[in-house]
Amino acid sequence: MKKTNTNAFKQACEYIVGGVNSPVRAFLNVESEPIFIDHGKDALLVDIEGKSYIDYVQSWGPLLFGHCDKDIVKACKKALKKGSSFGAPTLAETKLAKLVLQDFPHLSKIRFVNSGTEATMSAIRLARGFTGREKIMKFEGCYHGHSDSLLVSAGSGAATFNTPSSLGVLNELAQKTLVATYNDIQSVKALFDEHRDIACVIIEPIAGNMGLVPAKQEFLEELSELCKENGTLLIFDEVMSGFRASFLGSYGINHIEADIVTFGKVIGGGMPAAAFASRDEIMNFLSPLGGVYQAGTLSGNPLAMAAGIASIKKAKEDKNLFERLGKLARRLTLGFSEAAKINQIPFQSVYVGSMFGYFFNDNEILNYQDALKSDLKLFSKFHQNMLKRGVYLAPSQFETGFICDKMNEKIIDFTIEAAYESFKNL
Ligand code: PLP
Repeated sequence: MKKTNTNAFKQACEYIVGGVNSPVRAFLNVESEPIFIDHGKDALLVDIEGKSYIDYVQSWGPLLFGHCDKDIVKACKKALKKGSSFGAPTLAETKLAKLVLQDFPHLSKIRFVNSGTEATMSAIRLARGFTGREKIMKFEGCYHGHSDSLLVSAGSGAATFNTPSSLGVLNELAQKTLVATYNDIQSVKALFDEHRDIACVIIEPIAGNMGLVPAKQEFLEELSELCKENGTLLIFDEVMSGFRASFLGSYGINHIEADIVTFGKVIGGGMPAAAFASRDEIMNFLSPLGGVYQAGTLSGNPLAMAAGIASIKKAKEDKNLFERLGKLARRLTLGFSEAAKINQIPFQSVYVGSMFGYFFNDNEILNYQDALKSDLKLFSKFHQNMLKRGVYLAPSQFETGFICDKMNEKIIDFTIEAAYESFKNL
C-alpha cells in the first residue's frame, strides 16, 4: 500500500478508535484528514509523504525550542543511557523542582505527575482535602484536562444547574462543579452568594482552550479577593500558559499569587511531565505526609525530568527569549489581521508572549459565548487552505497557536503571505 496520509489514516482507523489517540488530532473540526508525521526539525514538521509544514502547534505547546532542540536531545540521550525509569527518587527531580520553584515566592513545594490532567485532578483533590469542602468552581470554556469533576459545562437557565460534558461523568459529580462566566465577576459573586462551601476555584488565567482569551487584570484581582474572603483556594491552571505567556506564565504578567498552580507542557520539554505546586501548609496534606492520596509509577521519570531541566534552564538563562518570541507573535498576528482586512474577512487576532490566537469574528471576545459566535465554516476553509500552503495550524477555532524559538521573521512573513492567499480564497 502506498505511503500516503489517507492510507495511513485508513489503517489507523482499523486499530485505533477514530484513528487517533486524542480527539482533536482527527481534524473533524476542519473537515479534513490528519497528516501523519514522519519527523520534526526546528520549526518544521515533515509528513510521511515528505511534505514539510511550518508547525504552529508545537505538540500543543510543550516545544518552546522547536523540534529536536540539540540541548534537549543531548540531555535525554544522557539520561536514557543511565536507565529509562526506576520508580525511585533521582537527583533530577530535585533539580527541576528547584529550577521551577526558585522564581515563585508563593510556591514552596511541588509534585511531579505525567500529564496536565493528572495535575489539575490532583490539585482539586488536594483543595478538597485541605478545605474539607466538596464543591468546586470552574469557568465555561476553560479546559483543564479530562478528569470527571472538570468535564462539566454550564447548563442553560439557572447558573447552578450544571451538566456533564461527557457521557460517563456522573450527574452527582457534575452537581458539585459550579460553572461561572470568564471575565465576569458578577457570575462568580452570584455563585459565592449561593454556595458558602466551595473548596476551590480553578481557572486558566490566560485561557487558551476557547481560542486565546486573556483574563482581565481587574477580574483576576477581584477573583483572588473573593476566594480569600470565602476561604476558597484559587488554582491557576498554567499547564498551557506556564513558561509560554512569559517565563513565569500569568504570574509574570498579572502578579497574582494563586494558592495552587498547575504546570505541564513546557515543564516536560516535550516528554510527559506536569506538576502542581503550592505552599507547605497545603502541600503537606499530600501523601506521604498527609491524607490526600496521589501517586504515579512514572511520576518524575528521569527522561522527562532531563528534558524538563534542559528546557526550563534554557528558557531561564536566555533573558531575551520572551521578548524575541513576543515580537514574532506580534508580527504574525498583525500580519494576519491586515491580510484579513484587505480581504474583508471578519477577523481579530491576539497574542500573549509566545501564544497567539485568532477568531473569525469581529466582536470583542471576553468569554466562551463570545468565542462561539465565530464563523467556524470560514475557520475550517482557512485551515484547509493554510495546510495546502505548508502551514500547520491547530485544527480548531478554539485552540491556541505557539511560536517556537526556531522561528524567524522570514518564516512569519511566509505564513502571512500564505494567510493572505488563503483569505483571498475564502
Ligand atoms: N490544562 C490546560 C490549561 C490545558 O491546556 C490542558 C491540555 O491542553 C490540560 C490542562 C490537560 O493537559 P494534558 O493534555 O497533558 O492532560
